[in-house]
Amino acid sequence: MQHNLLILGGTSEASALAHLIAKTDIKAIISYAGRVQRIRPQPIQKRIGGFGGIEGLKAYIKDEQITHVIDATHPFAAQMSANAHTACAQSGVHLAALTRPAWQPETGDNWHQVADIRQAVEWLEKPARRVMLAIGRLHLDAFSALKHHFYLLRLVDSPEIAPDFPNKKLLVSRGPFTPEADLKILKEHQIDLVISKNAGGQGAYAKILAARELGIDVVMINRPVLPQRLEFYHPEAVLDWLYQS
Ligand code: NAP
Repeated sequence: MQHNLLILGGTSEASALAHLIAKTDIKAIISYAGRVQRIRPQPIQKRIGGFGGIEGLKAYIKDEQITHVIDATHPFAAQMSANAHTACAQSGVHLAALTRPAWQPETGDNWHQVADIRQAVEWLEKPARRVMLAIGRLHLDAFSALKHHFYLLRLVDSPEIAPDFPNKKLLVSRGPFTPEADLKILKEHQIDLVISKNAGGQGAYAKILAARELGIDVVMINRPVLPQRLEFYHPEAVLDWLYQS
């Protein structure tokens, strides 16, 4: 079968798969939502921007004669994953996900697990803390009503409009991060609470290791429920599956 692959990207896993695929004769394109200003160079063709919901993705699959979709989006990109699941089922094309296991609490971790952003905000309705808020740009507004905390915000890009927090420090920096560097940052800003999505993977885990080292609280936002699909944790496993399907 002649493969024609659509990789839904935005993660280091998607990039790793693109590099692996580039060494084969499989035709593939990687797709980005267009959320960040600078996209890492990729060795395969890329496209940027939403498809226009399920119907838009179905049209794209048909027009481009896509045979396989690999959902390598972030575990919190629930809308894209749901759309991909439905569009692939309705288009009769193969779907697999390339993802990463969720982090699990270990000895020394002080995690407070919450279901979603709303619960994380509720958890913060407490006396003032010094908070590292490392959840990306899109959901910052949800926390801005709680103005009594100090927030250390870490974002990939410099925001066009400064986030509405009276007491904040903004760090613009793209991962992967190291535990040593994150330990230094937590100490320097006297952080006593880290708010994190349970992203899994290595790059974003540095702050969790640093929080463990300092024995500080972590509000861990659990993953959204994603559709049941075939999942792989390694790009090589995706390649094996492609050759078999
Ligand atoms: P989302 O809420 O699931 O997606 C919202 C919409 O953005 C989708 O319906 C789709 O628009 C478009 N979209 C998302 N990913 C796309 C992709 N790879 N290619 C083309 N369109 C895409 O997703 P999100 O949370 O906004 O995340 C957007 C991107 O950022 C994803 O690629 C994800 O891997 C990456 N990312 C997300 C997080 C996070 O915490 N959510 C963290 C790091 C990276 P249409 O309906 O118009 O097709």
